[in-house]
Amino acid sequence: MFDQGEILDESKVSVSIRNKALNYGLGCFEGIRAFWNDSQNQLYIFRIYDHYKRFHESGNALHIPIPYTSMKLIPWTLQLLRKNNVREDVYIRPICFKGANTLRPNLLDQYNRVSIYCTQLTYMPKPAIKVCVSSWTRSGNNMIPPQAKSTGNYLNSGLASSEARLNGFDEAIFITDRGNVSEGTGENIFIVKNNKLITPPLSDHLLAGITRDTVMQIAKNELQLPVLEQSIARTELYSADEVFFTGTAIGIKAIINIDHRMIGNGSEGTITRNIRFLYENIARGNNPKYFGFCTPVY
Ligand code: PMP
Repeated sequence: MFDQGEILDESKVSVSIRNKALNYGLGCFEGIRAFWNDSQNQLYIFRIYDHYKRFHESGNALHIPIPYTSMKLIPWTLQLLRKNNVREDVYIRPICFKGANTLRPNLLDQYNRVSIYCTQLTYMPKPAIKVCVSSWTRSGNNMIPPQAKSTGNYLNSGLASSEARLNGFDEAIFITDRGNVSEGTGENIFIVKNNKLITPPLSDHLLAGITRDTVMQIAKNELQLPVLEQSIARTELYSADEVFFTGTAIGIKAIINIDHRMIGNGSEGTITRNIRFLYENIARGNNPKYFGFCTPVY
């Protein structure tokens, strides 16, 4: 893994039990994927510049300034993948956290540690999922801001996803304190209604997902679908023609049942499938029009 600008064996990297990021959740991170393209014998990292841009934006919002520029972090990430000779799909996790071992959850001390590691990841292998609206409210933009990808905020996600699993669902959908649909625990959400694609605006307490942005571009440019960013009420979920999640880990995932109500005809809808095919093809480096999103490793 990369730790503080050095490639090290993972066994040489450690964190004290006193570490304040561990004790108080004072960190931010990214989740990036690279896709192996067999016919081109190449590994492509998807939208790495945008992920590191968001990493810096998260750090800036949280008083955890990332001590290295993207111009350093990107070559280090490439180096890490080459060093591990990765020739399959892989998930990359850069993380920056408060390195001090002091009590008090203050963010103003300047020791911000950065590590990058990679791992295989099969996130939710089912082709379509059943979800519930969570009894937990999404932490708001003025609480733990969801637009910063902070470690601490994943306690909110953890509570909702655990509750969903315990109740027999695959995942949870958060609503905001105002009752609008927000996002999943690690995914953005879209509905299809009358051949329009609708997703909640950032002001409904959600992360500005990079997959979300990609889907909006694909829908407009490749499928000529109108795309609206507008608040969605809970009951609009139940009457949607199609609903799907988007995210780096999950990809594009059809939601076929919400709170025991069947969505559409209970299987992946046509628009969801078209968007998924386009996205998977683009991310794997098979669509020349979108090569700009794909950074070759070798
Ligand atoms: N919302 C949350 C809370 C997330 O953790 C993620 C995963 N990063 C997303 C949305 C989707 O974002 P992206 O498409 O950039 O992975």
